[in-house]
Amino acid sequence: MALQKIDVRCPKCNKKNRIKIRQEYSEEDMSIILDKTAFKHTCLSCEETWYLDYSMSVTGKDFLVIYKKEDDFLENKEEKLRMRLCHSFEEFKEKLLLFHDGLDDIVIEFIKDFLYRQLEDSLKEEVREIRYDGCNETNLIFYLLGAKKSIGCTKEFYERLNEKRKQKKIKGCVEINASNYHQYFRLR
Ligand SMILES: [Zn+2]
Repeated sequence: MALQKIDVRCPKCNKKNRIKIRQEYSEEDMSIILDKTAFKHTCLSCEETWYLDYSMSVTGKDFLVIYKKEDDFLENKEEKLRMRLCHSFEEFKEKLLLFHDGLDDIVIEFIKDFLYRQLEDSLKEEVREIRYDGCNETNLIFYLLGAKKSIGCTKEFYERLNEKRKQKKIKGCVEINASNYHQYFRLR
């Protein structure tokens, strides 16, 4: 397990803290990443608590998602994993959630675009981003950042799209987001 020691000054008392950070996580650790416990540190001197924003990777059954820094995490990784790089925590969280739920991120990006286009104009102005937020038995749920609302689509809709989609092999670790998913998405 990759543990790294780093020195960080406490934002409150300015004392140097030597912190051990773990950089490789597995799917089972998802909850402490999603609730940010994994980023939390308490000052050894004054007990102030703060969050460290550091790079990490999470490996699941068929995926590898990297938060921030790519290079350190890509040695000896199996090519059969879906490998994704994320620069923001929101993106990272979304990838973890949807891969954990067995979904394809490229189809999800298409659905987000589709859902956005269905919104009323007044709502479109409020929405900064749409993020996959989880699912229940019949629906996929998406959160509208900026509008503080959730919307959904049926799992059936997702399945239909996924079946019609032409699978294209993706090499290496890539970023896939709203602005570039088109390159990877084709319907038959
Ligand atoms: Zn302190």
